[in-house]
Amino acid sequence: MTRIEEARQTLLETDVNLKMEEIQTEEAYGRVIAENITAKTEVPSFRRSAYDGYAVRREDLKDASKEYPVTLKVRETIPAGSRGKFPVTEGTAARIMTGAMVPEGADAVVKHEDTRFTEKEVCFFMPAGAANIVDAGEDIKQGVSLIRKGKILGAADTAVIAGQGMSRVCVFQKPRIAILSTGNELTEPGQELVKGKIYNTNPFLLAGYVQKYGMIPKDYGIVPDETDVLADRIQMALNDNDMVITTGGVSAGDFDYVPKVMELIGADILFHRIPMKPGGAMLAAVKDGKVILGLSGNPGAAAVGFLHIGLPYMKKLCGRNDIHLTKAQAILAGPFEKSSKVTRILRGTAKILEGRLVFEQTGNQKNGAVSSMMDCNLLGEIPAGSPALPAGTEIDVYVV
Ligand code: AMP
Ligand code: MG
Repeated sequence: MTRIEEARQTLLETDVNLKMEEIQTEEAYGRVIAENITAKTEVPSFRRSAYDGYAVRREDLKDASKEYPVTLKVRETIPAGSRGKFPVTEGTAARIMTGAMVPEGADAVVKHEDTRFTEKEVCFFMPAGAANIVDAGEDIKQGVSLIRKGKILGAADTAVIAGQGMSRVCVFQKPRIAILSTGNELTEPGQELVKGKIYNTNPFLLAGYVQKYGMIPKDYGIVPDETDVLADRIQMALNDNDMVITTGGVSAGDFDYVPKVMELIGADILFHRIPMKPGGAMLAAVKDGKVILGLSGNPGAAAVGFLHIGLPYMKKLCGRNDIHLTKAQAILAGPFEKSSKVTRILRGTAKILEGRLVFEQTGNQKNGAVSSMMDCNLLGEIPAGSPALPAGTEIDVYVV
């Protein structure tokens, strides 16, 4: 295991306290289901007609031809939603609409455009072809496993649940994630920017990802680089949330107080610093069973730390059963001209060229660049010790 994998794994081994809630099925799209769904009812639950036409017995039509048509007596009309009163017996047929229950005795439906009919009689000019009957359980058989606990419910999942007649479903509560920005240089957008200060952009970036992955962000604002204030604010955030993410103050500068504050509040440090660029200046700690993820203040680095190291744990916190990173191989669209002493994570976007997955860098790969996170849907991994890489090199990539 590399130290990067180790950091991810150490986080993953932290226990989570999953809470459930029951919600309306119509609100379940995008939520993580907290129960296994097994088919209690088969779908459809009865034999139904696939067309508007006539329910017949094949036997009655077996000799029908243009020269010698067969005429059957129409005993009733069965609209969708009703059931017929009579079984189909020798010499009779039932007019039937799409979706209506096929009456007993009938073993085929002939489309009405293939017949000639009056109200009382229907005439056939050939034997019945396809049955045109949807069997009970054609879509879903009784007793089959439909959805496993921990899946994010997509459109069809909610439809399948509704098809079981369930108006409510049990899902995991969305975890609440506190976001704190440390740094005396930070100014909130909307305020005047004094020389030497910068706008506080990290909470926007992180709150966006938090929501993208199905969690609820809560912003705890800007915290000055002061140990006591930082300790108080982190403790306050821990009390009301399932996890705390800080940015800034985590490396080796004079005012990088996050590691010290972990000690002060009695949190156990899981790891501090990973040989990874950008984002390696990060730490993870646990207090009261809750994780504190201390990310670098540099937006590019914070994003990489969040996505490449923290995300599997956060997926676990959501109750998901697919928590591991989605890895593939892709071809570098352009060169990466620097050599890499430690593992380097590139920000890029997925392209398909001549049927192959191609990794196109989204621009400036510097720690501090937030612009290259725009349109980034793939992180590329360059192994430690790699020289500069020409276009066309195959690298590992991770879908984010
Ligand atoms: P630090 O991790 O505190 O050493 O900060 C590294 C760099 O990221 C510095 O240039 C900071 O000014 C910048 N930075 C820190 N916090 C933020 C933030 N919330 N939004 C944007 N940039 C930040
Ligand atoms: Mg700082």
